[in-house]
Amino acid sequence: MKFSRMFIPTTKETPSDATLPSHQYLIRGGFISQSGAGLYDFLPLGKIVLDKIRAVVKDEMDKSGANEMLCSFVTPMSFWEESGRNLTMGSELLRFKDRKSGEYVLSPTNEESVVNMVKNRITSYKNLPLNLYHINTKFRDEARPRFGLMRGREFLMKDAYSFHASQECLIKEFKNMEEAYKRVYTRLGLDFRIVDADSGAIGGSGSKEFMVLANSGEDTIVICPDCDYGANIEAAIRAKKVVPNWQETTNTPIAQEKVLTQGMKTIEEVSNFLSTSQAQSIKAVMKKAVYEDKTEVVVFFVRGNDELEETKACNAVDALELVDASEEEIKESGLVAGYCGPFGLPEAVTFVIDEELKDEVGLVCGANEEDYHFTGTDLSTLKDAKYFDLVAVQEGDTCSCCGGKLEYTKGIEAGHIFQLGSKYSSAMDATFLDENGKAKPFEMGCYGIGVSRLVAAVIEQNHDDKGAIWTKETAPFLVDVIVSNAKKDEELEAGLKIYEDLKALGIETIIDDRTKERFGFKMSDFELIGFPYAVVVGKRLSEGFVEIIDRKTLEKEDVEVSRVTQVLF
Ligand code: ATP
Ligand code: MG
Ligand code: MG
Ligand code: MG
Repeated sequence: MKFSRMFIPTTKETPSDATLPSHQYLIRGGFISQSGAGLYDFLPLGKIVLDKIRAVVKDEMDKSGANEMLCSFVTPMSFWEESGRNLTMGSELLRFKDRKSGEYVLSPTNEESVVNMVKNRITSYKNLPLNLYHINTKFRDEARPRFGLMRGREFLMKDAYSFHASQECLIKEFKNMEEAYKRVYTRLGLDFRIVDADSGAIGGSGSKEFMVLANSGEDTIVICPDCDYGANIEAAIRAKKVVPNWQETTNTPIAQEKVLTQGMKTIEEVSNFLSTSQAQSIKAVMKKAVYEDKTEVVVFFVRGNDELEETKACNAVDALELVDASEEEIKESGLVAGYCGPFGLPEAVTFVIDEELKDEVGLVCGANEEDYHFTGTDLSTLKDAKYFDLVAVQEGDTCSCCGGKLEYTKGIEAGHIFQLGSKYSSAMDATFLDENGKAKPFEMGCYGIGVSRLVAAVIEQNHDDKGAIWTKETAPFLVDVIVSNAKKDEELEAGLKIYEDLKALGIETIIDDRTKERFGFKMSDFELIGFPYAVVVGKRLSEGFVEIIDRKTLEKEDVEVSRVTQVLF
């Protein structure tokens, strides 16, 4: 490709809202152009990078045995009504009507579509398992689209959906996908961690996220430096300590008194008065509730003595407006109230959530004070535990796998895999006949990769103050042959020869043959765009030398023209 023929509108101007390096360099390097809030056009260079990432994802998915298909981007609202997600997905789900007043959705994910695709087509266990994937546009009306490609409203995702006759088979495929994902991120040249995750609005149990490590990441993850344990802080909060035995607790009074008496209105205000673990607990519950568009969430701050003489509660939905409520009133509210007296706790924070959430989360209790947590339990009991503790894992806590000291770090969620179970197949009545001729809902898994987010993630991990530094698998071109002064015939010809030679070897090469731009300008474009190598044809050409620059180290080396390909590869 010739620079002179390609649309690469680089610029020195940084958009005022672009705070992240990836956002800045993708715009400044002429990869993307913003067309609206959370909407981006891919310019030629950006399209090449996107396609390269997409190709790696496709290759590994194909190798893993999944089938590529393509769902329609627009889906009928009836799908979402069947699964119930018309109610739970809230405003992220963009709904609209067609000319006949039919209701539709711009798909934010495609569980419903694929269940609909498979339903009544796969009717026997003999045709299972099956994994179907596509790489397609998604739309989520994100509350805060930002950071360029990192959190767009329209974005490209690879999503796969697997169908199984048994949970064992699902777990096998989940592991198969985990391995395929590892190969994807490794090939892309990324430093990543696999972490245990919360299942969010997608639902189901058993989920892992693939986190690209970067300071700008929006997710806090807990990792162990000595083994490969990792968890999203939300999951680390959730699963850390189960509380089947309340008697083990040591307890001290905490700051609820302040909360109750000072009339705080926001979660943040309350959080400031609670120990870290409590604040995290409330946030985790609230976040989940808000995410799922639950309005019924009630946070009770129960304060009682051993006899539960006095019980006070506050309703989170009414912005934590404090109300006095008796134990009876709490019970009558139709919600299951948690209280602490009978268990020997002088004071506790209890979150009571609506019936639907309760089944999933259980009755939730925050810990009372740092270092006064409920202990001594086995994580495997989590599923059945009625009470469990949402203790935030702290930095320096001991890793249960290897005894290492846990650390917090930041990550970009680049992929997420879930064991869904029969959540969607049951809701949509998608069944198969098992060996005994009995109809059963499919066991399902789903597996997502943020393909367009990865374009940004690569830069977050690979850049300097001059620009992007693409990894070899993601670079739009591996080599930029810079003709220092393209008006000089001998320089242009020598450049073209190197360019042709590299191309003949199958190396993706661009030649900066622009006659109007000065050398300095071409160099800064090279640094900004971030091609891994430049070959500069210039001042020492008459002696038979060109200069090779490594973008990552910016080291320069004079090399004889005849040895360029040898030195580079
Ligand atoms: P996040 O927590 O960042 O909002 P998510 O958990 O909602 O992401 P999933 O439903 O797990 O996202 O979707 C699978 C993948 O799609 C994510 O791991 C991420 O890489 C990508 N993704 C999700 N939302 C966006 C977005 N708004 N823009 C770009 N990529 C996204
Ligand atoms: Mg999201
Ligand atoms: Mg997430
Ligand atoms: Mg996710």
